[in-house]
This record gives sequence, C-alpha cells and structure tokens, in this order.
Amino acid sequence: MSNNATINREKNEILRFKHDVLVVGAGGSGLRAAIEASRQGASVAIVSKSLLGKAHTVMAEGGAAAALQNADPRDSWEVHFRDTMRGGKLHNDWRMAEIHAKEAPDRIRELEEWGAVFDRTKDGRINQRNFGGHRYPRLAHVGDRTGLEIIRTLQDKVIHEPNVSIYMETTITKLLVKDNSVVGAFGYRRQDGKLVLFEVKSIVLCTGGIGKIYRVSSNSWEYTGDGLVLALEAGAELTDMEFVQFHPTGMLYPESVRGTLVTEGVRGEGGVLLNNKGERFMFRYVPEMFKGEFAETEEEAERWLTGDDSARRPPELLTRDVVARAIRAEVQAGRGSPRGGAYLDIASRRPAEYIKKKLPAMYHQFLKLADVDITKEPMEVGPTAHYMMGGIRVQAETGATNVNGLYAAGECATGLHGANRLGGNSLTDILVFGKIAGEHAGKYAKSQSPHPGIDDETLSKTIEEALAPFGENRTEDPYKLHKELRDIMERYVGMIRNKNDLEEGIRRLQSLLERTKLVRARGDRTYNPGWHRALDIYNMVLVGLAIANAALRREESRGAHTREDFPESNPELVNVLYIIRKSPSGELEIREEKYEPMPDRLRKIVEEEYK
Ligand code: FAD
Repeated sequence: MSNNATINREKNEILRFKHDVLVVGAGGSGLRAAIEASRQGASVAIVSKSLLGKAHTVMAEGGAAAALQNADPRDSWEVHFRDTMRGGKLHNDWRMAEIHAKEAPDRIRELEEWGAVFDRTKDGRINQRNFGGHRYPRLAHVGDRTGLEIIRTLQDKVIHEPNVSIYMETTITKLLVKDNSVVGAFGYRRQDGKLVLFEVKSIVLCTGGIGKIYRVSSNSWEYTGDGLVLALEAGAELTDMEFVQFHPTGMLYPESVRGTLVTEGVRGEGGVLLNNKGERFMFRYVPEMFKGEFAETEEEAERWLTGDDSARRPPELLTRDVVARAIRAEVQAGRGSPRGGAYLDIASRRPAEYIKKKLPAMYHQFLKLADVDITKEPMEVGPTAHYMMGGIRVQAETGATNVNGLYAAGECATGLHGANRLGGNSLTDILVFGKIAGEHAGKYAKSQSPHPGIDDETLSKTIEEALAPFGENRTEDPYKLHKELRDIMERYVGMIRNKNDLEEGIRRLQSLLERTKLVRARGDRTYNPGWHRALDIYNMVLVGLAIANAALRREESRGAHTREDFPESNPELVNVLYIIRKSPSGELEIREEKYEPMPDRLRKIVEEEYK
C-alpha cells in the first residue's frame, strides 16, 4: 500500500494517494496494463471493486484465440484477421483487428513464460480448440477454466513488479479533469466506506462490461458499465453502443441462475444443437456470407469431427449472432425446448471421461445447479446478454481517448470486434490492448511536469455527489430501479429491436434517469451495498440510454444488432459510427461519423476465399 497522507475535509476523511498512473480494474486488461506501465518506470495504482483475483476475467471458460499454428499449421495472422473481420460483419476497426491478429500469439507465449499452464498437444505445445467463427482450432485453453489461469498468472507477475500498489474493494465514482487532461480520480472503499482520492497523471480504464443492465445475463455483479460513464463524464466518447452480444447458450433454469454461461467450448468439442423434434436445425441457418465454409450435411459434419481435413465445419460453429437468432427462430416456429430454448447435446457424442476432462466446469455447473448430468443427457439453453462490443472510443495504436492522459482497454473499450465478437477474441484483446494502453499511459505520465493539483471546489462537489444518496427526502429504492431497468432493457432494447419499441424504451429510460436523482441509501457507509447500488444505478441507466439511442439510429441489421423493421445490412453503413458524448448541459448527444475504409492489402485478405 502507499505512504500517502490523510486529510480531513468537511468531516469526511479522505485517503489521498499519489501515483503516476491509475489503472481502474484488475481483470486481464487492467493487470496487463499495470505491468506495462510499471515497465515504463511509472508508479502505478490498480483499483478494483472486488478482491484481487476475482475480476470478471476469472469467469472466462473456453479459451484465448491466437494463430499459434499448434493444432493446425494452416492458421496464420491473416486467417485470424479475416475471421475477426467477417465475424464483426466488416464493421471492426481494421487497425485494431490487424494489431490483434499479429500480436495475440506473442501475448499467449508470454503468459506461458510467466507460468501459465495451458492444455498441451501430444508433442507438448499449447493445445488449441475449435470455437465459433474461427476457421481453424485456435483457442489456447485450460479445460474450461482458462480465465482463472490467465488471472492467476498475471496476478503473480504484477505483485512482483516494482512500484505497483493494489487497492482492492475500492470503487471509482468520478474522474477529475482539468483543461481536458486527467488529474485524478475519486471513489470509496467498499469495506469501510472511506473516501479516496488518487492524484495521478494518467488513467487507464479497464472496467469491463455492462451485462447487469439486462435481466438475463451471463455477467457478474461488477458489470454495471462504470467505466463507460466515468469516460463520458470526463469528456470522452462512446461508440458502437448498439452492438450488445447475446450469447446463444445460457442456462435456462433454475430461474436463480438463468443466463449463466454455457461455454461455446461445448460446441467446439463436438456438441450439437437440437430442437424439440430432435433435428440439428443449424444446417438451415447458414447465412449467404458463410455459405461454402460450413458443412451442408450431418455426414460431412461428422467427418469433420473425426479429423477429416477435407470436411467443412459443422454449422453449430457459426458466429454467436447467427446461432442466437436461429434458436429464437426455432422457438418462434414452435420447435423450441419446454423453457423456450434449444437442447445442447454433448452426451451422445463424446465419452463421459472426455467430457469431464475437457469441460469440467460445465459438468459441475449443471450437476450442482440443475441436477443434470451432461455426460448422460442434453442441456437446455437459450440466449443471454453476454458481451459489450461498444464502449469507449480509443486509438488503435495507443489506447488513448480524446481526453489527454485518459486511456481504455478491454471490454470497456471498443473497436476490435465490430458488430459481433468471436468467442476467444476477448481474452487476447485484453492482453494485446491492455499492454498497449499501459505502455502509452506510462510514457505519457512520465513525460508530464509536476502534478497540477486538484482544487477544493471540484473535490467538495464530488464528495457531495457520492454522499447524496444518504440525504433526506430521498424516495427511490435503488434495487427497485435496477429491476425496472432490467425489465425495460429486456423488453424494449433486447436481442430483436424495432423503432416503436426503442422509442418507448428511451421514454421509459429517461424517466428512470430522472428517478435516479432521488435514489436513497439507508444506514452508514460501512459495507453498505444499498449505497453502492444507489451510485451504480445512474451508470446503468445512462448506459441503457446510450444503447437504445444508438440502436434507434442504426437503421439496418448487422451482427448482434437486429432490427425487425430493417432486416438487411445496408452496405452504406458498414463504416458508419454513431458516436455519443455528453453535451455541456449534460444531455447525451449522438453524431454520425464515417471512418476510413480498409486499405487494399487488408481488403484482399478479407475477400480471399477459404481454400
Ligand atoms: P474484467 O475482467 O471484467 O475486469 C473489470 C475490472 O474492473 C474488475 O476488477 C472490476 O472490479 C473493476 N471495476 C469495474 N468498475 C470499477 C469501478 N468503478 N471502480 C473500480 N474498479 C472497477 N472471452 C474469451 O475470449 N474467451 C472466453 O472463453 C470467455 N469466456 C467468458 C465466460 C463468461 C461467463 C463471461 C461472462 C465472459 C467470457 N468471456 C470470454 C469474455 C471475457 O471474459 C471478458 O470480456 C474479459 O475477461 C473482460 O476483461 P477486462 O479486463 O476488460 O475486464
């Protein structure tokens, strides 16, 4: 911990810390950013809402995508780039997609050097498994607990870095900005409610996603979209907010765990999707763009499973947007499972011992939570809000935002995944762009003159905002607002959208936003989750509004964004971004911007037919 002084201000003790760089978030991107910033000679603070080792990355199951060429020598950065761009429906920031495909193998090998123990091939190299949208087996994995191994390795590394201090169970509620440059961040310690102030020269936001705004979600309690709102309020921009990924396979029951992820690794290991007639329905849903790449008959798909290189992949390995919509279509046609989804069957396709070895977490998850033995019977699954493709707009090469000294990486940043993320690409996204953002934040901080200080007026106002929920005459229950928000998002801004629903959703969200001003916390500040939720709820509603507004503006269907009133993709909109920022009067403003098309050398790679 740090040797910084404590001051007393208006009877509210503030713990004050000074560092060069503040990394907000201790997931994969935050830890990787901190390691790199420290390597620039900067003193680094990491803050995390949860305990070290508990960040959301720990939940990642299936693996990390990198063209290591261990399981199939035909793989290359070019094929990975092409898969990522096609999976993102060509809307991706192609600069990021190129950097990612080229640097991912080094980031995985580096993890191995730092002690990560991946599953091995027979000749002792890192093994790789198949996943949706990836042409070749590409996901480095540790059974279905890959995130745990990544976090464990990065954590071991970061605690041995010089000049890195870790502040656990601390939530940042505000970034402090002077003349469009960051000067600090303010927050509170969850365990004792003490207020904290970080005086820093640069900040890297690595706060993860937003899933908790939906009723059915695979995400953990941390995913309340804090980083997006911290960035917005500091003057940064959000984009691609309309692209929310609904993973096709979440648990459907029991109700208490509805939405919990069933990894794509099940399909990667040979699992198939069936409707209530026992049909493998995915053969009917191969989109034009992917025709020719996927098996057309069960017989061909079976040959692929047994390692026949001449056979094409089974359609269960299509991208997530396609599979999620196919399940929904089967349900609508009356062919769904009893609880409104589909069956996922691995039991009849792989021996029990194989399933327990390759998918141990899934085996225990279903046995303990649903009393289902997946080595003997199929799982019942359906779509669940899973991943945010949109977020803070950053430069591909540096992770910088439009606010000086403010950087972002990982799920809270945007660009790499376009309109739909391929499974496995996030774990290498957080490593590749965590490193880049950390390096540049460290360099930036070291290049700055002494800290300009934080004025008393700004600080007093920030304290007032954080403690406002304890004020008298406050009437709104934050838990009730959260429930209403999740219902609105599910009903009006869910997987399938249209103009009327989105407009109604926006009206309801705006009224909810007003009510967040009256949100109330009872009791004192020690371990008070009611207070924490009262502060988070504003972030969640604002993120919901940003998603709904962007979804209304994008009048086409592309990747995860499906408009039933505009069912086709519009080629004119492929490189159009809807960019959101806060106006000086506090309103969300949205504008349209076109980014540069891909250069020919990359276009050729994307357009090249698979051999
Ligand atoms: P996180 O790991 O989520 O870390 C966010 C950090 O920010 C946390 O430490 C949190 O406490 C902190 N934080 C947030 N707000 C604040 C605040 N206001 N103040 C202080 N700290 C804050 N991707 C893959 O590529 N492969 C997979 O196999 C895979 N499996 C997945 C399985 C599940 C169940 C889920 C939900 C996702 C999966 N993903 C997978 C996605 C991937 O795990 C995440 O996108 C990725 O781990 C996000 O990492 P991150 O570093 O951006 O954020």
